[in-house]
Amino acid sequence: MLPLHHAPIFDNLRILAQFVFLWKNKSMPKLFQKNKEDFICEKCGEKVIGNGYTNHCPKCLWSKHVDINPGDRAANCGGMMRPIKIETEKGECVLTYHCEKCNFERRKKVESNDNFDEVIKLAKTLASK
Ligand SMILES: [Zn+2]
Ligand SMILES: [Zn+2]
Repeated sequence: MLPLHHAPIFDNLRILAQFVFLWKNKSMPKLFQKNKEDFICEKCGEKVIGNGYTNHCPKCLWSKHVDINPGDRAANCGGMMRPIKIETEKGECVLTYHCEKCNFERRKKVESNDNFDEVIKLAKTLASK
């Protein structure tokens, strides 16, 4: 049996499709709010309504290096974080972000309000590299 990262792209897309199914059938997301703040995405200009525990743009999926631990806003780097990897884990879709300024990396679950077309597009782009 091949290790997971050697799985062909259609396998990954099939897993992604399963994820979309699970996600669409999910009940209301848990409500926990802290550091609720709106921001303008510095990558695509989208006005993002903050939900307190994410700082990535749901439209283009880029993030900003402002946290040491999710939500703490304790990092003073402020670099733009590029999504460089996408994988599925226990039925969830997980992105890996890479800070273009300081090379810090963080993994982050795809949120239910993220633009799933962009997630699929990203998965295909990354797979074709
Ligand atoms: Zn954006
Ligand atoms: Zn950084």
